Amino acid sequence: MGIDYIYPQFEVIRNDDRCTKCRICEKQCANGIHCFDIRKKQMVCDESKCVNCQRCVCFCPTHALKVTRNECSFRENANWDEDTVKEVYKQAGSGGVLLSSMGNPKRFPVYWDRILINASQVTNPSIDPLREPMETIVFLGKKPNSIQRDENGKIKCELPPQIELSMPVMFSAMSYGSISYNAHACLSKAARELGICYNTGEGGLHEDFYAYGENTIVQVASGRFGVHKDYLEAGAAIEIKMGQGAKPGIGGHLPGTKIIGDVSRTRMVPEGTDAISPAPHHDIYSIEDLRQLVYSLKEATNYKKPVIVKVAAVHNIAAIASGIARSGADIIAIDGFRGGTGAAPTRIRDNVGIPIELALAAVDQRLRDEGIRNHVSLIVGGSIRSSADVIKAIALGADACYIGTAALLALGCHLCRTCQTGKCNWGIATQDPELVKRLDIDAGSQRLINLMTAWKHEIKEMMGGMGINSIEALKGNRLMLCGIGMTDRELDILGIFHAGE
Ligand code: SF4
Ligand code: SF4
Ligand code: SF4
Repeated sequence: MGIDYIYPQFEVIRNDDRCTKCRICEKQCANGIHCFDIRKKQMVCDESKCVNCQRCVCFCPTHALKVTRNECSFRENANWDEDTVKEVYKQAGSGGVLLSSMGNPKRFPVYWDRILINASQVTNPSIDPLREPMETIVFLGKKPNSIQRDENGKIKCELPPQIELSMPVMFSAMSYGSISYNAHACLSKAARELGICYNTGEGGLHEDFYAYGENTIVQVASGRFGVHKDYLEAGAAIEIKMGQGAKPGIGGHLPGTKIIGDVSRTRMVPEGTDAISPAPHHDIYSIEDLRQLVYSLKEATNYKKPVIVKVAAVHNIAAIASGIARSGADIIAIDGFRGGTGAAPTRIRDNVGIPIELALAAVDQRLRDEGIRNHVSLIVGGSIRSSADVIKAIALGADACYIGTAALLALGCHLCRTCQTGKCNWGIATQDPELVKRLDIDAGSQRLINLMTAWKHEIKEMMGGMGINSIEALKGNRLMLCGIGMTDRELDILGIFHAGE
């Protein structure tokens, strides 16, 4: 037997004075950490598999539990930090690629936190959103370059197909399979209540959710799982996934153990078979090929649905977006390198891609310079954490934002970053029926509605503070932003001035 070089990462501390031995923690932990020792007549734990999901802590009725990072530390080394050393041990033990989930946790600059928002005073008064109308509705899709009128001077209102949203935020792509049925149900219900959209991801659309079609974006990814005519017809828009912020340049892999029952039927993949999405679409090697798929999807749906092309934010994203805008796509979705995922190779997640803030500013500027900004709407995602991030994204040029991790947090996710194991104690990233039922659909969708309602209020307040009364007037209005603690080059790419200038 070899030595396990890795000491448990977390320590579960139980206050025995408070513990009533009710064994709730034992029932709540799918990783089997807690158990009752009959001989000792007390609760004991084996922390080796604890992922610090905080489920037992939240459910302990006497607050007897605490989970902390293990203080048993390696000798300090600025170059070889503890996580890096442990990763080498893991690979030396397994010989495999390291897998992880959720977004890039590394300490790269978060540009949202280096951008500040303007407020009006004196000559340009602020607006009180409680007393004056404030427009948060947005329409996503191709817009004409100028207003067309008929011979009587009446505005011609015929527009290419659009998605109407009550606020500039949507739930981003999360497939049924990577997340549970109940999580999908929460997202779809909340999206309908809120007048926004959620996104099927690449897992197809479960028959129960066809009723939410007007609030659904259906995705077509390289594996084409679950794609058929009724599926394409069901959604408000169709999204072609070319790339994803968490794992640019590689495909997806849902292990056969998760392809069971409804997931298998919805994906149209036999039970127990791995669902592997190839890295490229095997029919797309140029903008012309992409154009063919865009128009095939439009043709299949009678030109009634806007088509979105989703790409990861990578080097040269502005040129890529320019090509996509010319492919006939109505909307471009750009996913930054902090975007979440159910499973990704750790090295890819942590080292590939660029921040969404820089990608967005570069794309918006390029499309303006080329005179084609109105040909597409821009959606951005990849760690939009608050209403302030939304406001900053809109002012940098986005039409709307996708949120994924924030939505999962609203459902109870504690960011333990082990979705790839399928043992999510919060009933989100799992297909285990016992775990799935922990996520209450009504309570979960209400929490999503609460979060979005709160953000909408905050968006209105911030817009009012700037003296702006509509999202449309804020879009691309970079004068409403200034930077702090950034280099001239960074400010230049973002197209904003430094604070005090
Ligand atoms: S849930 Fe709390 S009180 Fe109950 S057994 Fe566990 S630690 Fe003790
Ligand atoms: S894995 Fe989660 S539920 Fe289990 S002991 Fe650790 S924190 Fe508690
Ligand atoms: S969804 Fe579940 S498994 Fe994934 S990070 Fe959140 S709590 Fe952990």
